[in-house]
Amino acid sequence: MNKSEIINIFNSIPLADTHEHLLEEKDRLKNPAYKGYNDIGLLFRQYVESDLIVSGMSERQADLIKDETIPADSKWKIIRQFWPLIRHTGYGMMVRETIRVLYDENDISDSNWKKINDKIAAQVKPGFYDHILKDICNIDHCQVNALDAPLYRKSERADFLMDLCVSRLCSDFDVMLVQNILQRPPEKLDDCIEAIDRSFMDFGPKSVAVKNPSAYRRKIDYNVRELNDVKQCFNHCREKDWQVNRLERKALEDFLVYHTIKKATESGLPYKMHTGYHSGHGTMPLHNLRHNAGDMSNLCRLHPESSFVFMHINYPHQDELIALAKHYPNAYVDMCWSWMISPLAAVRFLKEFLTAVPANKIFLFGGDVSLIELLPGHLELAKKGIVQAIAELLTEGWLAAYDVEGLLQRLLYQNAYDLFPVKRLKKTFTP
Ligand SMILES: [Zn+2]
Repeated sequence: MNKSEIINIFNSIPLADTHEHLLEEKDRLKNPAYKGYNDIGLLFRQYVESDLIVSGMSERQADLIKDETIPADSKWKIIRQFWPLIRHTGYGMMVRETIRVLYDENDISDSNWKKINDKIAAQVKPGFYDHILKDICNIDHCQVNALDAPLYRKSERADFLMDLCVSRLCSDFDVMLVQNILQRPPEKLDDCIEAIDRSFMDFGPKSVAVKNPSAYRRKIDYNVRELNDVKQCFNHCREKDWQVNRLERKALEDFLVYHTIKKATESGLPYKMHTGYHSGHGTMPLHNLRHNAGDMSNLCRLHPESSFVFMHINYPHQDELIALAKHYPNAYVDMCWSWMISPLAAVRFLKEFLTAVPANKIFLFGGDVSLIELLPGHLELAKKGIVQAIAELLTEGWLAAYDVEGLLQRLLYQNAYDLFPVKRLKKTFTP
């Protein structure tokens, strides 16, 4: 079996996309906040911006690329200085693949940037989400973690299955959000629990998973806490009007995380956690990342009835994630975002994972983007990496040709249906 035969099998399978931050189409079309997005700067937002800055672009220049009052030719003059430096990174390749798939150009240069710029603007019209998701990407559904709503966003699409994001109710405790939910300030620990319970009551049945991205802001060393210590911690925070540092509120946050895990399990929802590499630039504390796998193993051991989905392959500590998923029946791995963080690390990871861990423990793709135009480029990178991993396993004799179709069907589609309430949510969708 050669690579093009593997690609044909890949293309024939509708894709269960397990992690996106996609905006709604109606907002891209009508919300004034996104009015200035639709020019050449669009391709260099979000992740790509970080590579540009790391390569030497100033923050001021990065801001100009996003500024709707700046003409597109001025933006290109800035971008072109740094593009040769980042065009070979995963983020840069994602841009080139997007340009190829969506705008029918092989690369971007002085001679064609204007043409691409015009095509970007022209494509943003009613129905462009369907065109990209269905016609181009063959996506069955996306799990979406909305960043433009505090907990949950109701979607206009039946194929957007939304996460319930709980971090601000527990591990990034936000007293104002709790107050909004309760319509009064929390006066005792039970009030914090009530805010969580209400959120699960309101959004749990409509959600596909629970999401906790707190690893961006703290270690995920959620310890078992004595109730009295937690109450004392709550009282201390309240007396200080919540002007407390992370250490002072840790006992409360740890305790509330456990409550969200309990509620997720009762609601039949997997608990997704950010692990490993941070988006952005100039801030990531690598010490914290080193401990993610050990901290995750504690959670898996203490909650054998709960299902955890660890995201982004815990890069650069992906080997430990293989050990975790192999050892714990309740540990699952989502390769979302990994194909553009480090495409070759993702290829190595997938090969090693498939020869060490049961095939139902992994989800292969989530674009992890807000702007839908960046999704096809990332998917092309993932496809290339997945096909390479499978082809190498075949050549090296770890996999037989007759395994490939069934395996890809499971990895790209079936696994998501088996773990998440996809079928129920798609059936009961009301616009
Ligand atoms: Zn994400």
